[in-house]
Amino acid sequence: MAYSTRVLPLLATLLFALACGVPSPESTGADRDGEPAGVAADRAFADLAPGPGEPFVRVLGTAQDGGLPHVACSGPRCVRARREPAFARRTAALAVVLPGVDRVLLIDAGPDLPEHLEALADVRTPAGGGVDRAPVDGVLLTHAHLGHLAGLAFFGYEAVSTRELPVRATPALAAVLRANYPWSLMLERGNLALVESPPGRPFGLGDGVTATPLRVPHRDEVGDTVAWRIEGPPEPATGERGRALLYVPDTDGWESWEPPLEERLAEVDVALLDGTFYSLDELPGRDVASIGHPLIARTVERLRSRVATGGARVLFTHLNHSNPAVDPRSDAARAIREAGMGVAWDGMEIGLGSAGR
Ligand SMILES: [Zn+2]
Ligand SMILES: [Zn+2]
Repeated sequence: MAYSTRVLPLLATLLFALACGVPSPESTGADRDGEPAGVAADRAFADLAPGPGEPFVRVLGTAQDGGLPHVACSGPRCVRARREPAFARRTAALAVVLPGVDRVLLIDAGPDLPEHLEALADVRTPAGGGVDRAPVDGVLLTHAHLGHLAGLAFFGYEAVSTRELPVRATPALAAVLRANYPWSLMLERGNLALVESPPGRPFGLGDGVTATPLRVPHRDEVGDTVAWRIEGPPEPATGERGRALLYVPDTDGWESWEPPLEERLAEVDVALLDGTFYSLDELPGRDVASIGHPLIARTVERLRSRVATGGARVLFTHLNHSNPAVDPRSDAARAIREAGMGVAWDGMEIGLGSAGR
């Protein structure tokens, strides 16, 4: 009985996690021959870079749950990503870096977590020659799917073996973690310390930075899903709020958002939005309603005039391996840039101070 109550939920979780990345055939012909382009920094967003000592967000990965190269895929972009490491993208995640209090927090813990931690080596205090049992100061989760949760297992006994690492999750997601191995065992052993964060309620991360989980619609087979709003410290002289960022790696189409996307964008300066698929060309035989993600091409049209008139800056993340926009030289990436938007890149940094807004 004990076996079935523990193992069956685990199997269910794994099956749902495996289903997170909607399998899709590679679209052909979108890649261009020529020089390797890599995951290029977009100079149009250079003004977002942090100043010295300023708290900032670092983008640790920009690929959908299966990665780029996508696991077990020999499609053209995945072959290229294996051949050219600069073309590869880690699974989607962010770090919030708080130099004033020497703290680093992760948003999501996907399967590329070891590489995410490597990408933070320059902002972490070295552990002194051994395993750093506290490589980050906390994790904020969006939801329970593979690309956002699986890496949390690296904090367990077999690897980092953290001690009471604070993990923020909605009450519904926290219930899933408490009920299912391996998270339940990691909680029992004290590797993790769950902190329930109800959607809509902000809290401080340190250095004057606040975080707020915001409920978003997504395939919620287990738990629920949130976006994260991260807001920098207010300007001391004027009280003006710091730069605010909206992070939405996974969501259903914008039509099902309440309040509407535009209302959320009015509250922030920068948004990293679900860019899993560029268009229906990647998904032959599927209709928009069944995809479960907004399509970049449609999001661009929806937000074009708002961005052009000085609304929040918009970048796309969580790109599937089928998405032509993973290549900065593709027509898709060009169309995004021409609309004043961009594709986030691994290593991108966004300052959270009020300067430059
Ligand atoms: Zn995902
Ligand atoms: Zn592929």
